[in-house]
Amino acid sequence: MTPTRHPSDAVLADYASGALRSAFSAVVAAHLEHCPHCRDEVAALEAVGGALLETLPESGLAAEGLERVMAALDEAEAPAAPAQSTIERIAFGRERFLAPSMGIRKAGSGADGELLYLLRLPSGQKTLPHGHLGVEFTTVLKGAYNDNGALYRAGDFCEMDSAADHQPHVVVGEECVCLIASERPMRMTTRVGWLVQALTGV
Ligand SMILES: [Zn+2]
Repeated sequence: MTPTRHPSDAVLADYASGALRSAFSAVVAAHLEHCPHCRDEVAALEAVGGALLETLPESGLAAEGLERVMAALDEAEAPAAPAQSTIERIAFGRERFLAPSMGIRKAGSGADGELLYLLRLPSGQKTLPHGHLGVEFTTVLKGAYNDNGALYRAGDFCEMDSAADHQPHVVVGEECVCLIASERPMRMTTRVGWLVQALTGV
């Protein structure tokens, strides 16, 4: 199944240029494994970036350089789909989640405090109600969830900011596993949420 929800052009450009922090980059990479469309786009962006780098030391983007950029765009080919990532092996392998009853497995945290973790919830379960204190990227690895009337299925990508509170719920029929990167821990809105946060750090 091809994903229908993709990273924005700005996010793909940041990914292609290496500007994303590694936690966020990992979540985009998980989407790319499912999405030939975005792999094409990243390949084209990387080709343009390479051509620009070759051109810049001369006199900016001269007419000849622009031709080379356009030619590189035409020639850009999508890379083959990468092998199953380490993250997915962790998600579906034998290793237990660190907090199995809560379905949270922390994969790492970055120098600026950003978090990378897997969330595994059973069929039909709701997440705790929460908001966000910064940007959050999610790629669905397995199953599907609904959030405010929008359906996110395996491979789909979601970018949240610190706007509204929400409470996604897993579609009935299959467990749901998501890979999530966030700038800051969630903003929990219930006592249970505070407890879970104290135990898991997410
Ligand atoms: Zn995509």
